[in-house]
Amino acid sequence: MRSPILDYLDAIVEQTGHVDSGATADYIPELAAADPNRVAVALCTVNGTVYASGDADQEFSIQSMSKPFAYALAIEDHGLEYVLDRVGVEPSGEAFNELSLDPETGRPRNPMINAGAIATHALIRSEEAPAVERLLGLFSDLAQRPIGIDESLAASELATGDRNLGLAYLLHASGRLARDPSAAVEGYIRQCSATVTVRDLALMASTLANGGVQPNTGVRLFSRETTRHLLSVMASCGMYDAAGDWFTSVGIPAKSGVAGGIMGVLPGQVGVAVFSPRLDAHGNSARGVVMMEKLSKDLGLHLMETGRPARSSLRGTRKETVEGEPTTVYVLQGDMVLSSIESLVHELVENPPSTELVVFDMSRVDEVLPVARTTSAAMATKLIDAGHRIILIDPEETVPEFQDSRGRAVERWTSERLEQGLLKEPAGPIG
Ligand code: GLU
Repeated sequence: MRSPILDYLDAIVEQTGHVDSGATADYIPELAAADPNRVAVALCTVNGTVYASGDADQEFSIQSMSKPFAYALAIEDHGLEYVLDRVGVEPSGEAFNELSLDPETGRPRNPMINAGAIATHALIRSEEAPAVERLLGLFSDLAQRPIGIDESLAASELATGDRNLGLAYLLHASGRLARDPSAAVEGYIRQCSATVTVRDLALMASTLANGGVQPNTGVRLFSRETTRHLLSVMASCGMYDAAGDWFTSVGIPAKSGVAGGIMGVLPGQVGVAVFSPRLDAHGNSARGVVMMEKLSKDLGLHLMETGRPARSSLRGTRKETVEGEPTTVYVLQGDMVLSSIESLVHELVENPPSTELVVFDMSRVDEVLPVARTTSAAMATKLIDAGHRIILIDPEETVPEFQDSRGRAVERWTSERLEQGLLKEPAGPIG
């Protein structure tokens, strides 16, 4: 059975096919030559399963999406105070490569614009291994696979990197650069040339959503405090001079890169990533922004959306006999949001019910976000298609119009009817 979450991501790619505005970055020759029609989207909840659609295995350079991770590494190396003394956290409202420093403090305004990112790169400890090697190790731990550098891209950007060199000399002149300017820029550009896919980025982002712990390996890569601080900076400064617009419409702490990637983190729930190389006037992927707007709206991902996510919508599974028929009862709980419905759907896809009759008991469910409604309707369709009969116990009518998406019947029973029909077996958990 294919997960309805994958079907949804396919639809996101299809429904944004008309967005062909913008142009590939032209100040880095290798990026200008990228195929502008590539497109991909991925998401990964804090449970660690990656869902992806489109050119999901297409590698592209991480570019500025490396900045949050380099910043977190510098903080882990030196502590927050030390880094804050050297790089600020105020949105600049300026373009990513603006030649400006805070006139009062002389610091770069934040670590997401190039001035701050170059200063941050130079802060990463390199006594035992070069900063770039350490960053590649970190990216690999985050993505659970070896991440390398596109050397020809790095060479291409270095050859045209005057503006970043200018920034580095400016920082050096004001005593704000811990290393030699050209070495700092070379390291920073190589950091930006690491190649990733949307799958990698979704996993990397889900580690941030998971408070700094990689969801599959269980390894803590950043402390909770560093992660919280980083996400706050991404929320206010991640989308350059479009940060305010972005935060109100999409509402997801995010970072974009000039190769066309955008990575977003909804704390406690999910990491998302999109890729499409044409950029808008702010240097953010034009179709990527539209895809993220849709994801946020459809999946209820706006940070300011209130809700109390449960880790899983599934409280437990029971085997019963209902009106003489062997039955699987799924007991659901809490607020049904993307991350909690994902773990239920994952369970149903990986371990489909072994009985024809399936009961979903929603007596303990509080609120159901639209994403959970549509995803469960899609899941119900698949279960009915696979030959199951579905009974829904929903006393509070949290799901007002529950119907499978082809209009076929999902039976609604009261808890009393279930009680009457229930001939309890020596109940035990299934599987
Ligand atoms: N390497 C790029 C630069 O420094 C990164 C910019 C970006 O991705 O926004 O210009």
